[in-house]
Amino acid sequence: MLNSKTVISLVGAGPGDPELLTMKAYRLIQQADVVVYDRLVSEEIQNLIPHGVKKIYVGKASGKHHMNQGEINQLLVNLAKKERKVVRLKGGDPFIFGRGSEEAEFLINHNIEFEYIPGITAASACSAYAGIPLTHRGVASSVRLITGHCRADKLLDLNWKSLADSDTTLVFYMGLASLPQLSEKLIAAGLPANTPAAAVENGTKTVQRRCLSTLNNIPSDVIEMSVKSPALIIIGNVVRFAEKLDWFDPQEINTMDDNNAEKNQFMADA
Ligand code: SAH
Repeated sequence: MLNSKTVISLVGAGPGDPELLTMKAYRLIQQADVVVYDRLVSEEIQNLIPHGVKKIYVGKASGKHHMNQGEINQLLVNLAKKERKVVRLKGGDPFIFGRGSEEAEFLINHNIEFEYIPGITAASACSAYAGIPLTHRGVASSVRLITGHCRADKLLDLNWKSLADSDTTLVFYMGLASLPQLSEKLIAAGLPANTPAAAVENGTKTVQRRCLSTLNNIPSDVIEMSVKSPALIIIGNVVRFAEKLDWFDPQEINTMDDNNAEKNQFMADA
């Protein structure tokens, strides 16, 4: 019999900076019996999981899966039968390119209740921390969130004509590997080659880097800077703001650990 109190919490961890966790996410992590998390959950956030809470890593790295999606789904069902408070923690927002809805469907199909806590998605956070507003009056009137992921043996199958719109900001998740193709197809579909474009690597983290370029040059510029995953690609005229609105200094990030260090120092001084 299922413990009637079992609820699986599908929780978004945000893009990396632990202070971008919601209060609800933080509370659920503190109260969990077990936390199932993957690769995009930053180390700082993993460190917030209390000692004594069971941690299960099911991380996926591009190409090599630690556990496949079917196994993860089954694991969640099995845990729900044994533990009272199960937190399924995923990077960003689990319902945005995070397969969170597949896990939720599987749970529902197995009569397991879930609650959902959205997280700040990479598009929102990485653009903001790179000084790029996704919309700006008179510059971009809409935003599209797009997956750039395709199987190794396939070409990206997107509606390029509909994407080639200078009033729209294009945000590509998992777009690093397909960047040469993205750039070529968008230019061929009519987006000007000098449209500003950016890659944000490790957005919101102390190691964040930005590569500011143009649609035409970004494939070679990311290679030159050896930009690695996770990286978000932003294409559109709003990228122009990145120089002016460059507010974030990754070195100055106020991590939870720093807070504790300050607090400890304060207590030592008192
Ligand atoms: N559910 C997640 C996205 C998962 S798909 C979300 O809502 O953010 C994984 C892709 O997200 C990565 O390939 C990258 O394109 C993007 N991404 C996630 N976190 C990122 C980060 N901190 N910096 C840059 N890109 C990130």
